[in-house]
Amino acid sequence: MINRADVEKLRSMHAQRSAVLSLYLPVPLDPARLRGLAAEAGDLMGDVSANGPDSVSNAGVSNADRNAVLDALAAHGRDWLGHTVAFFACGELGLFEALPLPCLLPERAVLATRPHVRPLLAALQRCPDYRVAIADRRHSWVLSVSGNRVETVASQSEEGPRSPGFGGWYGLESHRIQQRIIQLGRHHYRDTAAILQRAAEASRNVPLVIGGHHDSIAALLQALPPAVRADFAGSFTADPHTLTPARIRELASPVIEGWVTRRERDLAGEILGQAPGRLAAAGLPACLTAVNEGAVACLLVAHEGMIPGFVCGRCGALSTGSDECPDWGTAARAVPDLLEEMVQRALDDDGQVTVIRDAPFIIAAKLRFPVAARGGGQ
Ligand SMILES: [Zn+2]
Repeated sequence: MINRADVEKLRSMHAQRSAVLSLYLPVPLDPARLRGLAAEAGDLMGDVSANGPDSVSNAGVSNADRNAVLDALAAHGRDWLGHTVAFFACGELGLFEALPLPCLLPERAVLATRPHVRPLLAALQRCPDYRVAIADRRHSWVLSVSGNRVETVASQSEEGPRSPGFGGWYGLESHRIQQRIIQLGRHHYRDTAAILQRAAEASRNVPLVIGGHHDSIAALLQALPPAVRADFAGSFTADPHTLTPARIRELASPVIEGWVTRRERDLAGEILGQAPGRLAAAGLPACLTAVNEGAVACLLVAHEGMIPGFVCGRCGALSTGSDECPDWGTAARAVPDLLEEMVQRALDDDGQVTVIRDAPFIIAAKLRFPVAARGGGQ
């Protein structure tokens, strides 16, 4: 599955002309529909030059790039059933990538001077890799989930006193054994917490789901150091001894979905809670100004569609009209998607980018310094 390094690698590629094809193609679950999908991919690639406003320099998808996509689809389509696959092709750059994404995204074809990565970022944020800890009083398992893949990272079991003989002991002796089991239990949760801490140090900001009986979840949560607890996304209750990797993923994925949605809502609320014009901007005009001034600390993109616009080849200003910078359009170049350009610019300036859903704005930003507002609205 894809990761941030793949996105950065793609972001480093630039072509002279609008010659980089980005094609996002949802592959149906039913293999019988693969043949129809090739025709659909062909249509998407055929239409793409007409979509862009850059009709003069944009000659459409080259035959070589188009064939490379169709060949890959014929060879690997069956491995991609149920996934959206992102293709990036540009003969001029020697670029060809076909990346299955962890979640389904709508189809899209873009021709631009570089790979169109906004949907990749959305996929990484909506379907993140995560960890699951399953624990009961004696055993624990730590698993890592990436797309459909579930791997056991660590498992441990604490040998308590054996159960034979248990029922025959009474009184003080039995009480001692009970105490010992509880002690073991506490150590055991601490040990599991230590495993999770090491995992969190190895790869940071990976959300954690805990599964098991109610009291085990509470005990493990209590044993977690604050840094690991900050990654806690939620829990599910289940009998650990009935769980399979597939079932674990089934139970954990709604927990992760809820966590992603909460995080999106919190981020949007945080920005909207700021006094406008101070350290926040909402709407396309205000955010264009902020991006052009390099003021964006965190960009929140809520609109999924593309918004055509212009970039000035001289001063670099991004704008909705071709004559909005001091160069009066003398060096303006059409771009198929201003939101993508803003995302790229924010990332270049070491800003953060989050793609969210269901927000009352197209785009919003948390700013590093206030910028003069220019116009209003969305
Ligand atoms: Zn300019």
